[in-house]
Amino acid sequence: MVYQRLKNVQNYLFPGSCELCRRRVDAGQDFCSDCKRSLPAHGFGCRICAAPLWDDAAEATRSHREWVCGRCQKHPPAFTSVIAAFTYQEPISNLILDLKYHRKLYLARVLGSLMADTVATTISTPPDIILPIPLHRTRLRTRGYNQAYELAKPLARQFGLTVDPRRLQRLRKTPSQTDLPRRQRLKNVRGAFAVSGNVVGMRIALVDDVMTTGHTANAAADALLKAGARSVEVWLVARA
Ligand SMILES: [Zn+2]
Ligand SMILES: [Zn+2]
Repeated sequence: MVYQRLKNVQNYLFPGSCELCRRRVDAGQDFCSDCKRSLPAHGFGCRICAAPLWDDAAEATRSHREWVCGRCQKHPPAFTSVIAAFTYQEPISNLILDLKYHRKLYLARVLGSLMADTVATTISTPPDIILPIPLHRTRLRTRGYNQAYELAKPLARQFGLTVDPRRLQRLRKTPSQTDLPRRQRLKNVRGAFAVSGNVVGMRIALVDDVMTTGHTANAAADALLKAGARSVEVWLVARA
């Protein structure tokens, strides 16, 4: 009763609005219930890279959680698993673009806490440390912030973990991955990361906004394993 009254006062003083439809929502809520339901939750996918399972294969394999995609079978990645809160589709894709390119930094808290919800229901024990996929320093300078680091902050708070934006470094500026053929994409990111600081024996969660090919996360995980990390998993807002 008292709680409800306090909540009413809070909503009166600090009304929020839904990030998507701008309808009024209770304080502390980012989405109205309709919009929250419409978000493209990431469904069943590859046990390692979370690549979505196509419908034709779905019926045959939906029952067992051990499905591994052809790419991971052929080239097992350096990371052990991927947790993606969403599939890279509207409206999540628009929110990610707003965070990255339109300086809507507050969306990192919104998306980061949605990631935390998914991660909390997926893992049984937290990792030792969270590391954001770093930007190259010239890109960081132009953008002013690393969206992966901003996403990692609410996750770190939720799980009581440290997030270190410097332990993993990006040595080279890599051109956009999307236009390159596979062989070139691999070459593009190979040796792009270096570790500065201790990761020995650690289970590491790498945080990024989107994974498309997985080559970037793979190169980062590879650098961490070579520096002595025990294992690397990847936490994403969305899997393309
Ligand atoms: Zn809404
Ligand atoms: Zn896979």
